Amino acid sequence: MASSLSLSATPRTVPYFALDVSTAFASLSTKEKLYSHHFNAAAWYGSMVCAAQLSVESPRALTLFYSLFAQNSIQALRAFSETAGDVAVDEFDRFLEYVALFYSNMGNYLSFGDSKFVPSCTKKSLLSILRSAPCSATQGLSPTEVEALVEQLYDASAGRTELGFAPRGTTAYYGPDVTEANVEAVDAVLAANNISPLNTRVFRAADGTFEVHVASARQAVRDLPSSGSEKVRLVYGDFHRAMSMVVYHLRLALPHVANDTQRSMLEAYVRHFESGHIDEHKESQRHWVRDQGPVVEVQIGFIESYRDPRGVRAEWEGFVAVVNKAQSLAYQHLVDGAPAFLSQLPWGKTFENDVFTKPDFTALEVLGFASSGLPSGINIPNYDDIRREIGFKNVYLANVVAAMSFKEKMSCVTDADWEAFKSHFMTAMQVGVGIHELLGHGSGKLFVKKADGTSNFDAATLNPLTGAPITSWYHEGETWSTRFLDLSNPMEECRAEAVALYLCVLPDILRIFGQQSVEDQNRTVHVVWLQMVRAGLIGLEFYSPDTKQWRQAHMRARFCILQTLLRAPNSIVRITHRPQERFLEITIDESRVRTDGHRAIGELLMHLNVNKAIGDAAAGRAYFEPLTAVDDEFLSIRETVMALRKPRRQFVQPHTRLSTATGAVELLTFDSSVAGAIEAMVQRHRDVPLLL
Ligand code: ZN
Repeated sequence: MASSLSLSATPRTVPYFALDVSTAFASLSTKEKLYSHHFNAAAWYGSMVCAAQLSVESPRALTLFYSLFAQNSIQALRAFSETAGDVAVDEFDRFLEYVALFYSNMGNYLSFGDSKFVPSCTKKSLLSILRSAPCSATQGLSPTEVEALVEQLYDASAGRTELGFAPRGTTAYYGPDVTEANVEAVDAVLAANNISPLNTRVFRAADGTFEVHVASARQAVRDLPSSGSEKVRLVYGDFHRAMSMVVYHLRLALPHVANDTQRSMLEAYVRHFESGHIDEHKESQRHWVRDQGPVVEVQIGFIESYRDPRGVRAEWEGFVAVVNKAQSLAYQHLVDGAPAFLSQLPWGKTFENDVFTKPDFTALEVLGFASSGLPSGINIPNYDDIRREIGFKNVYLANVVAAMSFKEKMSCVTDADWEAFKSHFMTAMQVGVGIHELLGHGSGKLFVKKADGTSNFDAATLNPLTGAPITSWYHEGETWSTRFLDLSNPMEECRAEAVALYLCVLPDILRIFGQQSVEDQNRTVHVVWLQMVRAGLIGLEFYSPDTKQWRQAHMRARFCILQTLLRAPNSIVRITHRPQERFLEITIDESRVRTDGHRAIGELLMHLNVNKAIGDAAAGRAYFEPLTAVDDEFLSIRETVMALRKPRRQFVQPHTRLSTATGAVELLTFDSSVAGAIEAMVQRHRDVPLLL
């Protein structure tokens, strides 16, 4: 289908922003710089894992592109493509745009939205560019193999265009002959043997045995006892070359830790990446949570499960960031006030944790974030038991959010609202993301009954949604994601976003972020709410009508919020849609945000939080799925959204290198451009080879 091809072609106008960390980096001591540098190297050594989790062609193509540009400058390649390859200038530019977007997403599926993108230049041009390169860069691939790889890059046939289980989508977390039902059976065996699926991929051996490949430096094989008919074997050593280098650099970072907690954390990380045991990663996270307010914040491992169609296997993520002291102070005030703010949530004490363990909350300037994309805020670890027993930390990635341009008016908002965005967007982001992470993900209790019969709840508790006594809870070893599976991420994001809307109206919170006057406070609240419903609307981009699937958890969450507000009595949201004119606008009645709007969000929160607390997946699903179903009216709106959409911004990250002359850590920065993104790839992977 021609339209699906043009939808997936690499856009021509992707905005690239260089992450600015120079000032923060310059403020670090020599020791802190060395710690940052080695941790950053460890993080990037794992980055190829992201590519390998996406598609079979992603790591191969990434290696090919890297070596092409490592051996040929952009200028030389351009000249040779034109003269020897007869490639038009415009076609060459399209190729560069493809490579930059590919590298920014660590593969050929967009990190945000999980949809495949293909080169916008012709296949012929791409092959000509590869063939006319003065230095051959085909990585030992034969001409036929290169052609086959290029075919895969352009393949936009059904089942290839988005991530998911076959036949709907594609995924490299599982072998091509592993079905969703197989995975369910394998995961049951893993659960029975107390093995976490987090850092694994599942393949099928020739004899039918399911091989669970566990990421680790050490290689080993172990058959698991199984009560069912499936034979399951653990194969340790997935990505062993990359994991060995991760371990190597974490060891080099060890002498530069700031304290004993960081030392214990790094030692646990090393044990984890050597052995592949999740218990060691959990141990690292206990130390990580206890390492409060570090000057250099880090994280590494298999962290978020957004991209696994089953929602339980995690993507590689490693980051290093420098604390922004001034902005962190505001977040510390938010943490200090948290118990009082949480008491304002609609579900009451029974469904909230007895004690709120005050987490660390810092604003950070990212030095390196090795994964498929960059978030604005993070609340981790995701291990429910550690969150319950020790706590969690929040971070706000200040230089990611700050990489914004207000030159061009946003779509779907009025001129007056655009003025409000320009003046209050940054504050609204700080408030919104701050509440989302700390009071959103950080709130809510899980009712757990342990194997020894003890529980953390009263069995006579009434379910406020039904009025009847509760009939479900979590058993030991069960988590939110193993219960709610594919809905766990969108529903949890929805809960966190709804908390942000619900609590952002509190003047005490707004004052923390410098909004002293009622006028400023109202403007900020307006932008937080408008931003949310607008995201619910334009997020339709991330819904696939063909498969009736949402491809992005946050966008599905925001659509749920939009629908909740639209369906509530006296809706505060108004959408104006004139399909023929391609006109789409969304407004909210500012005067009723704190009344009608607030009431509707409160009701949504009750459903999300109570069903989460008691682990009632059936009730949760029955509530959430209809709200995120897309009817004909919204399918028509989606057409307009697609016509108006603009490509999402991408980041060009800096790189650190040890000076061969002095041994000092140097910061390399690159242009905010397609060429800058490619140059960053070349410089970075010259030092950190792309390994699997
Ligand atoms: Zn979130």
